[in-house]
Order: sequence, then C-alpha cells, then structure tokens
Amino acid sequence: MNYISTRDRSRTFTAAEAIVKGISDDGGLIVPSSFPLIDQKLFDELAAADYPERAAKVLSLYLDDFTEEELLDYARAAYSRFDGDPCPVVKIEDGLYIAELWHGPTCAFKDMALTLLPYLLTASKRKLGDMSRTLILVATSGDTGKAALEGFRDVEGTEIVVFYPEGGVSAMQKLQMVTQRGGNVHVAGIRGNFDDAQRTVKKIFTDEEMTARLKARGIEMSSANSINWGRLVPQIAYYVSAYCDLVTGGEIEYGDKIDFVVPTGNFGNILAAYYAMRMGIPVRKLVVASNSNNILTDFFTSGEYATAGREFVKTMSPSMDILVSSNLERLLFEVSGRDDALMRSIYKDLAEKGRFSLDLSKLDLGMFEAGWASEEETRETIFNFCDAEDYVLDPHTAVAVGVYDELTSESGEETPAVIVSTASPFKFPCDVLETVTGERVGDPETAARKLSAITADECPECIAELGSLPVRHDTVIDVADAEKTVLAFVGADK
Ligand SMILES: *Cc1c(COP(=O)(O)O)cnc(C)c1O
Repeated sequence: MNYISTRDRSRTFTAAEAIVKGISDDGGLIVPSSFPLIDQKLFDELAAADYPERAAKVLSLYLDDFTEEELLDYARAAYSRFDGDPCPVVKIEDGLYIAELWHGPTCAFKDMALTLLPYLLTASKRKLGDMSRTLILVATSGDTGKAALEGFRDVEGTEIVVFYPEGGVSAMQKLQMVTQRGGNVHVAGIRGNFDDAQRTVKKIFTDEEMTARLKARGIEMSSANSINWGRLVPQIAYYVSAYCDLVTGGEIEYGDKIDFVVPTGNFGNILAAYYAMRMGIPVRKLVVASNSNNILTDFFTSGEYATAGREFVKTMSPSMDILVSSNLERLLFEVSGRDDALMRSIYKDLAEKGRFSLDLSKLDLGMFEAGWASEEETRETIFNFCDAEDYVLDPHTAVAVGVYDELTSESGEETPAVIVSTASPFKFPCDVLETVTGERVGDPETAARKLSAITADECPECIAELGSLPVRHDTVIDVADAEKTVLAFVGADK
C-alpha cells in the first residue's frame, strides 16, 4: 500500500515513510492511496479474535512494510498496559451503546494509538535504515500530551517535547503532565491557546534552520499529533472492534447499519470512523459532536470554515477546544474526489484569510451529521445521564450524548448508536463532581476521591497516585521562545 499527499497526489510514501515523516513537505497530510476492504470472511475472523489481534489485523491491511507477527507483538505489548479490554462496548439500553476508550495508562482515548505509536515509529526507522535519534514534538489540548509522554517515556532513541497551553488545560491534565516521569521527557506550558501551540509546532517542523541544527546533532523531528498516520491507523481498529462486539453480542446482525457519535476536536477520531466505513463497516451516520467551539457544526451546515473573527472559547471539554481541525483536510480530500488542487487552494485561503468556503452539494458528505452542545447542555447531560442511567459521563462524552439526544429527538431515528467515550470522568473530576452534586472542589485529587465515593466507581490508579508525585516540569514560555526551548531541552542550543 502506498501513501500520497492531500496537496499533491503524485507524491508517494511507503507506510514506514508516512509514519516517520508525519506530514508531507508540501504541507499536505499523508493518506492511504486506497482503502482495503473487510469482507465477510475477514470480518468473521476479526469477530472471533481478541482486541490486540483485531488491531494487528487492521494495521496489517495498511502497513505492509510490517509482518503480521511484528504488528501483533506491538499490539500485545501496547494493549497490555490497559486495564482489561481496551475497547469495551457497554450497553446503556436497547440500541444505545458506549464504547469506552479510556482504560489505558492516562485514562483518555489517545492511549489507544499512543501506546502503539512508539513501536511503529521506532520500527519504521529501523526499516528505513534511519539511525538518527527521534525528537517527538507535540502540541496538546490536554490529553495527547500526557498520552504521548507515557507512550514514549524511556523509549530508546527518542526524546519527547510537549507544549500545552498554560491555562488552557484542566487542572488534572496539567498535573498529569507536570509530574511526568522519564529520562527523555520535556514539558513546557506556552502563553496562548491550543491553536497557538499547534501553529508553533507546525512552524518548527517546517523551519529549515531548526531542522539543520538538529540534524547536525543526529536528531530528526517527528510528530505524535493526530496528523501522523501512525496515530490514525490504530484508531480505525476500535470502530471495527465495536462493530464486531455488537455482532458477537447478538445486538445486531452482520450488515446492519449503525451510527457512531464522536466528540470531536482535531477531527482525528471521527476520521478513523469514516475510514472504517470506507473499509466496509456498515455505517448509517457519523455524528460530529462539538462543544461551544462549534466551527465544524457551521462547516457541515454551511460549507463555510472560518477561524477569522471567531472567538476561541474555553470549555470544560478542553480537548475539543480547537478551531483548526487539522484532520478535516483528509476528509475533504476524500469527499471531493481526491482533488489535491482544491486542497492547495482552500488551505492557502485558510492560512491567508482565516477562512475557506466549499459547495457542500459537490461533496460526498451524506453520511455526516453535525451538532454542538453548550456548556449548560453538557452539564444537564451529565446530570440527567447519571440520574437516569446510573452512568457518569466525562464532559467530552457528554457533549456527544447531548448532541445525539438532540438529533434523535428531532428525527425519531432508531438506528443502533455507539457513543464514543473518549475520557474517564475521573480525568475531569472537578467539573463532573460539581455537576453531579453541586459541590465545587478546586483540587482535582480531592474531587476524584469524592467522585469515587458517591459513584462507587473506583478511581483509576494513574489518577489516584498523582498527589504523591513531585512536580518535575515547571517551564512556561512565550510562543516566540518555543524554538530556543526545544533546542535547550535536547542539548542542541550551544
Ligand atoms: C483528543 C480528545 C478529543 C477530540 O479528539 P479528536 O481526534 O481531536 O477529534 C475528544 N475527547 C477527548 C477526551 C480527547 O482527549
């Protein structure tokens, strides 16, 4: 399988190159040249397998530089860090299910890919005969940073630098990052929001002087953000797996269509759902759920994507506080009939004018629905769902449930739906506790303990232990100092 750039279809990459490069030199994203199909025979095999086997099989359809045995080894090692099944599908009521993707080492769905990426990346480099050290550079809206730090911590031949928006992540997310252990990990807050952090990292990647200085020290940069193909391909697996579980559990029959409802920020998670659909998983609708940063809802309704003049809103679902949803480009590439010239032109518009506009009737977007939930609606959803279903949602998942409720109450639709749950409620204990009980507790550890007491759900160990860990990273910088900081972190500043 070859890979191509969304901005120039004639640029091709192998799977290993796609993973090592992260992004194409023309600024485009790297996408598979075609979608492998899951036929009924393969589906039956997948349905009978355990999660690491399912993941390895899906990966092998895309990553043909690797043997199935290698991929299975990586998947087994990565998913052994999870507490039980990495993707349990919980039945809430007939036709409504929650796929819990947060049983990994940092309690957010980012673990599904970031426990696996270090294996894929280091092996890809070996396959390419690339002996350089890898500098993983990450901009995070909260959860990617911690998951990448855990995934890459003490991985030989790698250094990892994470920039998070100081004041733009939750108290718990920050605590998780600043207490990170490991000999190769570096964390800094930046004064700005997530888009500032993401722009800064993208700029560093394309800065020739930075690249040259690092290269002189035997270091090459790579990305662990969801623009990296190595992040996306493991995410396809859990959509396939969730469908398998509904079939093997007798909830649906093979071939029945279902809906996936996905809380969305950078558009990586829901893009993986779209890819699963393109591979043959029967999907009726993909629901794009946003918080008050509802730029995607506007786009799917009007065809206008405008960051200009739009205010960045801080919400209690910070991992979705994003205005530039990078992976949307991969979707637009597909639904425009792989029009690379169009991608060049709209992304030039976005960079120069802060907006682009497309005629939706010319795009194959029929399977998408979009909606958003305000902070008030999100709180109501957490409260009502806890009350009615005895299930505590984190704020991100609550956005998805809120949007789903609104869409189905309008349409009366009864297709089985899987809500994708992206974080444990214990990762956002202050807001969740306040919503459920009315009590405001500022300290996230105390809030987590109280939440555990009232819900009778056990607080995951990775969160319970945070209070006893020392703060190891206290750097906070201006955006302008990001390059200097990176060089200093890896000892390349002299
Ligand atoms: C990252 C994240 C999201 C958004 O996922 P995208 O792939 O960026 O759309 C949603 N919820 C949580 C908890 C996250 O960490």
